Amino acid sequence: MKKGTVPPDRVRLRRLAEKALGEAADGNDDLSGQSPEEIASLIHELRVHQIELEMQNEELRRTQEALETTRRRYSHLYDFAPVGYFSISEKGMIEAANLTFASMLKVDRGVLIGTPLSQFILNEDQDIYYKHRQRLLETEAPQACDLRFVKKGGQPFYARLECMLLNNKGEDSREIRAAVSDITETKRAENERDNLQAKLFQSQKMESIGTLAGGIAHEFNNILTVIIGNNELVMEDLPAWSLVRENAEAVRVAGLRARDVVKQLLLFSRQTDQKKMPLQIGTVVKESLKLIRSSTPANIGINQHIAEDVAPVFGNATQINQLLINLCSNATDAMIDVGGAITIDLGNHIIDEASSTANIALSPGRYVRLMVGDTGHGMDRQTLDRIYEPYFTTKAIDKGTGLGLAVVHGIVEKNNGALSVESSPGKGTVFTILLPAYEGSIEQEPETSIVLPKGHERILFVDDEPAVSKIMKHRLEKLGYEVHGFTDPSEALAIFSNTPDAFDLIITDMAMPQMTGEQLAAAVLKIRPGMPIMLCTGYSEKVSEEKAREIGISSFVMKPMDKTDFAVSVRKVLDETKGTTQE
Ligand code: ADP
Ligand code: MG
Repeated sequence: MKKGTVPPDRVRLRRLAEKALGEAADGNDDLSGQSPEEIASLIHELRVHQIELEMQNEELRRTQEALETTRRRYSHLYDFAPVGYFSISEKGMIEAANLTFASMLKVDRGVLIGTPLSQFILNEDQDIYYKHRQRLLETEAPQACDLRFVKKGGQPFYARLECMLLNNKGEDSREIRAAVSDITETKRAENERDNLQAKLFQSQKMESIGTLAGGIAHEFNNILTVIIGNNELVMEDLPAWSLVRENAEAVRVAGLRARDVVKQLLLFSRQTDQKKMPLQIGTVVKESLKLIRSSTPANIGINQHIAEDVAPVFGNATQINQLLINLCSNATDAMIDVGGAITIDLGNHIIDEASSTANIALSPGRYVRLMVGDTGHGMDRQTLDRIYEPYFTTKAIDKGTGLGLAVVHGIVEKNNGALSVESSPGKGTVFTILLPAYEGSIEQEPETSIVLPKGHERILFVDDEPAVSKIMKHRLEKLGYEVHGFTDPSEALAIFSNTPDAFDLIITDMAMPQMTGEQLAAAVLKIRPGMPIMLCTGYSEKVSEEKAREIGISSFVMKPMDKTDFAVSVRKVLDETKGTTQE
């Protein structure tokens, strides 16, 4: 109960008592002026009121206690709120703060009171704070901003401030109240999302560059075939003593280098057909490293750690090989001047739910991890940002093509894996590749998993080059065919004219000195029309597929022939012409 609000009843009573006492002091100390009834009644009334007063007193105490409890509850709510609270003066001095805010900053609350808030804000973000305060004072409207506070010990954290201005003390001393939430997690998630976005853009860019590069590479392949082929023809005709030979040789070397570049480009743009199969990646890597070791300078060591139990992957050995060669040659380039070591690490790796959200590119599961590290000069941020771009190179024009890592990137993507790099100037570089482990069983050896089409037909094979004739006879026999090999076309023709039905197929080279494949084919077809004939030509021979068909030649293959393609072509010709031949 507040002062000055004594009930009127009590006021009257007090007056009465005072009057009676006053009269007593005037000589009537026995209150003789009052009748005994009057005095008794007065005393009774006074007692009643005394009791009443005591009751009110008691109530007051209880109210006070309740008030104290409420106050305690609110200050507890304030102090231990999930967000930090503070109040500052217009000048920025901290006037009050809750314990949450103090513990966010890892200081005692006492340290905060009377200290400028700016002392706890990261230097780089002071500007944000001042502008924010200024705006708040100017507009008097609630404002929010994000800035970094610094904890005791120097560690910064991101916070969101939501502030309002209070005018309760009058115009000259306004008060700013703020709620502070730690948004480090949110910021981290935002950064991650931005990174992912950037990665997405990057891979989309790579995708379109890949398509473009693929088109160019195909075009180039054709042009290069003409250049290399014609140059070879020129060289064949040049006498050994000719000075022009040297120039022609330079053209050949450059041509071959260009062909390698195109090959890389095609690989990068994924336009080469690379069959995938279950692979014992440990074996592939070991084999690859044998080759790499032999071409790595002596001042660079190679350490390999290949886990015995490394899981198989579903991929292509040539691609894995390419990948390692590219990474190791970059590592070598980075150490060539001072020497150093390449470390290859191959082992199993598990991605669980938690690490999958951290690295959204991969879903949880079993992976194989291939790490290629070096102790070379490393890379700065600017270089790192561009290394996967095709044609990005920091090397001399005759040293780098800028395609190595673009190819690595393409291969890893195509295998649903992930590629990351850690590097800093002078600290070396580590590339880490994760490839999904192959979950199926792997009984077959990689080589035997391609089933070559076979047969038992009788084949007459003609090539004036004894070595080629021998290899091809061997190849065909391994497929089950019965082969008669000749190096002289006239001899082959003689045998054929004697026993034209003893053969199911003739395979002949085109360019032979005594008789061309075309002439042989014409003679054979005269003897036995419809005889299946396969003509093998090099790039420089002017026989088009139409021309060959016009003569009556069943099939036309380009040299050099791939083992698989060759077996398939042979089988195809035999199957296609089966109906027209006499067996
Ligand atoms: P290239 O080797 O032809 O330059 P890459 O695509 O293989 O092309 O590499 C691109 C660039 O990345 C290199 O020029 C080099 O600057 C940098 N780089 C790649 N690997 C490494 C490494 N291991 N150490 C230092 N720098 C590297
Ligand atoms: Mg390279």
